[in-house]
Amino acid sequence: MNDSAEGGTPAGAGPTDTDWAAALAAVRGLPADARVQLICHVNPDGDALGTMLGFGLGLRRLGVRQLRATFPGPPVLPEPFRWLPGLELLVPQDDAYPEPDLVICFDVASEYRLGDLADRLDKAGTALVLDHHASNTRFGGIHLVDPHAAATSVVAQELLDRLGVPLDAEIATCFYVALSTDTGSFRFEATTPAVHRLAARLLATGIRPGDISRRIFDTRPFGAVRLFGEVLLRARLEPAAAAGRGLVWTYATRADLARHDQPAYVLEALIDSVRCTAEADVSCVVKQVDTAEWAVSLRSKGAVDVSAVAVALGGGGHRFAAGFTGRGTVDEVVDRIRGELAGALLPG
Ligand code: AMP
Ligand code: MN
Ligand code: MN
Repeated sequence: MNDSAEGGTPAGAGPTDTDWAAALAAVRGLPADARVQLICHVNPDGDALGTMLGFGLGLRRLGVRQLRATFPGPPVLPEPFRWLPGLELLVPQDDAYPEPDLVICFDVASEYRLGDLADRLDKAGTALVLDHHASNTRFGGIHLVDPHAAATSVVAQELLDRLGVPLDAEIATCFYVALSTDTGSFRFEATTPAVHRLAARLLATGIRPGDISRRIFDTRPFGAVRLFGEVLLRARLEPAAAAGRGLVWTYATRADLARHDQPAYVLEALIDSVRCTAEADVSCVVKQVDTAEWAVSLRSKGAVDVSAVAVALGGGGHRFAAGFTGRGTVDEVVDRIRGELAGALLPG
């Protein structure tokens, strides 16, 4: 797709030498008793958590003692992540340092995704942002944002390299979870030669990719299997949507979850079953969060820029994987999506 990850970042995209120097100085200049707060985005995925914990373990190796990691919202981790190295760094958001010397944000495209923790940006001595969303709003003080990076872990791994922290199996496990999550297990377009070289370095530490992938992607309760069956059965295909490129969508309510006794996180994998649909370029899952509030996942096979759709509806993301928070009824939310699709067609 592009070779920017191969030979350095093109001008105007990705961190500059000045950005790297500022980030290195922010970490190296920390006093011994510095409090460092790590934060990843609300409703954390494998990239957010894996990168935050892997980088946190790296900071530990550098001798940072007062180190906490957190994410906004209830302090409940999806079951598939409850074995990750570095979990001992995690605290509920209420226990985050009120005034850290350094705050580092991972995989966070905008302040909004920090929820109640956004106030730390002003209260911290320094705010360092590691991310790979093209839509990043540069809400911190120092930005290592590379829109060409396949995952935020790519940026974090480079920063640890520059800090001279050797990769070990624990850090590598975290980064492998991040990289394989955001590349769809090395299937998406962002899977460049450089990504495979990074993965090779991670695997060389002795980690077990089969074990990791099974735990992260291929394990779910039987109740979730049955719930998926029900929710997939109500999927709708609209071949005329997106100027004839097609839309497939479904939704899941809190009542669906309750009926099958399942936690909300199991629905994160649902989009992967919906987006297989051959007859639709765009796929969508609308997940109920509250009575009239829905977390919407959007995917495209390449004809539509779904990040443009998500941004128009108050969210964000990447060209082919994006999301937003929808209000009202499912029909109202899907109607708004339909209305944005034709305007988000990519050339070609
Ligand atoms: P998801 O469908 O939740 O896996 O998210 C796909 C992409 O969209 C990720 O890169 C997210 O960062 C982004 N995204 C999802 N929901 C939102 C939101 N409410 N606001 C901004 N970005 C979002
Ligand atoms: Mn993420
Ligand atoms: Mn990411």
